[in-house]
Amino acid sequence: MYGKIKTWLADELTAIEAAGLYKRERIIASPQRASIAVGEGTVLNFCANNYLGLSAHPRLVAAAKAAMDSHGFGMSSVRFICGTQDLHKTLEEAISKYFRTEDTILYAACFDANGGVFEPLFGENDAIISDMLNHASIIDGVRLSKAKRYRYENADMAALEACLRDTQGHRFRIIVTDGVFSMDGNVAPMNKICELAERYDALVMVDECHSAGVVGKTGRGVSELFDVYGRIDIYTGTLGKAFGGAIGGFTTGRREIIELLRQRSRPYLFSNSIPPAIVGAGIEMFRMLDESDELHAKLADNVEYFRTQMLAAGFDIKPTQSAICAVMLYDAKLSQLFASRMLDEGIYVTGFYYPVVPKDQARIRVQLSAGHEREHLDKCVAAFIKVGRELGLLDG
Ligand SMILES: *Cc1c(COP(=O)(O)O)cnc(C)c1O
Repeated sequence: MYGKIKTWLADELTAIEAAGLYKRERIIASPQRASIAVGEGTVLNFCANNYLGLSAHPRLVAAAKAAMDSHGFGMSSVRFICGTQDLHKTLEEAISKYFRTEDTILYAACFDANGGVFEPLFGENDAIISDMLNHASIIDGVRLSKAKRYRYENADMAALEACLRDTQGHRFRIIVTDGVFSMDGNVAPMNKICELAERYDALVMVDECHSAGVVGKTGRGVSELFDVYGRIDIYTGTLGKAFGGAIGGFTTGRREIIELLRQRSRPYLFSNSIPPAIVGAGIEMFRMLDESDELHAKLADNVEYFRTQMLAAGFDIKPTQSAICAVMLYDAKLSQLFASRMLDEGIYVTGFYYPVVPKDQARIRVQLSAGHEREHLDKCVAAFIKVGRELGLLDG
């Protein structure tokens, strides 16, 4: 029976390959950190979401081990049957405290948090108004609800206002946006979004995956950056990026919303509890961020230093307030050649091109981390300059 689809699969795979879109996975033989073992040698990693440099932090590794010793390996249950430990409640409280929200619900991943947030809250009389560049998991989550869907151009407040005007007849409306958009590194204008939401009586949801731990004076995310505490109804986020980099997601916000999600959100009700090791390390991680802002300060310094050096060298860099730095090359082939030459120079970065970014907007995305030392940044900039000259992008 497999024969017919096997032929189709082979054709699809060949087509993906022929279009140059086949994704190959490079194998890392060390922990995830600034310097990683890849293939024969080591390279400096500038393409992980390891914003606070915590992916291999000894305190988190120790906390994960300690939680396994005290609370075991797995939960063998969903939360509401017999899968809730004291640790889960402690982590949920730590997240609420960090975001200054009323309550928090954990998921196996932010993909699940976004997949499970719309369907319980919004039905056919409601409207979800979504930024066009929102993450795939938001798009999928919206599809799972029966609400009417509206989209506006990335961070375009006039387009958002037009959607709000068009949807006045609906029961509930919610504006949904990523906090930081992953390809340009730009931040959603949350102050303006909140103003529009208040003017048009809509709710606000932000996905903080690339912004929490990163933006704002001490890294507390978009609420801190724009001082919009109390004006955002729902936040979703991940433990898989700045917050330790393992896995796990959450939704945090208004008490009644979280309470209803515990009753009705399908990825929460029908999927296993996060294991003690992850939860224990998560608690330790928020303790670390509570004790000191030094990791965030180092990240901010690194971003500033890298951007300054790259602009001085003559590179075309998108403005950003995040830890994502898009080095614009425009040409798709050039982006791939550039990234591959960077790897020869010991710098691991990824080139992105259509359809991941708009046509003729190819780029190399550099992600800075508190795990980078000054010498790592200098090596990265030096490699960019060397390859840039070689490929005729820079003079000299
Ligand atoms: C990474 C990311 C997710 C998915 O997070 P996981 O916890 O890895 O599932 C969701 N939304 C945005 C904006 C992201 O960047």
